[in-house]
Amino acid sequence: MDLEENIINCKKCERLIKYRNSRSIPSRYSSWTYWNRPVPGYGDINGRLLIIGLAPAFSGGNRTGRIFTGDKSSDFLISSLYEAGFTNIPISENKDDGLIYYNMYITLALKCAPPDNVPLKEELENCSPFFRQEINGMSNLKAILVLGKIAFDSFISYLDNADIKHGKFKFGNKTFYELGDKRLYCSYHPSPRNVNTGILKKADFTDFLKEIKKYIEQ
Ligand code: SF4
Repeated sequence: MDLEENIINCKKCERLIKYRNSRSIPSRYSSWTYWNRPVPGYGDINGRLLIIGLAPAFSGGNRTGRIFTGDKSSDFLISSLYEAGFTNIPISENKDDGLIYYNMYITLALKCAPPDNVPLKEELENCSPFFRQEINGMSNLKAILVLGKIAFDSFISYLDNADIKHGKFKFGNKTFYELGDKRLYCSYHPSPRNVNTGILKKADFTDFLKEIKKYIEQ
């Protein structure tokens, strides 16, 4: 079995499986058959940029079966990536919409939707071997963009686990750190709460993505 199949068939976290199988489906999606399985990464594994998010939303990736697809966070992220030149279309609605990522791959620290979007430490640990394999599979990696503190912490754990030396990095919006021949970029997560409260602004975020694109193309 390849990595994607291993992820999709994983049943390590009982709490997350119970959660997605017991939660009721919002009426606006009553015609949908929810994916209700782990959601693997997506994009160009040979790309130079890796984006790391937290976990699939219950009615986003967990519904559609593709990462950052079919919810408000996806609308914000994919339209911003499009404006920065990382995708062929500005939307991510379903698996058949034709979305292509250019020179980048996107994944999640946790592959299954957690209650209230808050994973347990042991669930992140359970999922970390998948996360490590995805990162290790990116032989042209030049930049990593973490979306939010949990994605940041998961990436730092990856570095420590791989014995990769790094400075005392601290998560902060629109910050970056040198990491040998790579660069680690940090941003707030494009969650509806961060976007609706103005903590994360579209123009700022898109400019940040453009800076990253310039860096990886040098
Ligand atoms: S979160 Fe990760 S480790 Fe846990 S069941 Fe889902 S895929 Fe498996």
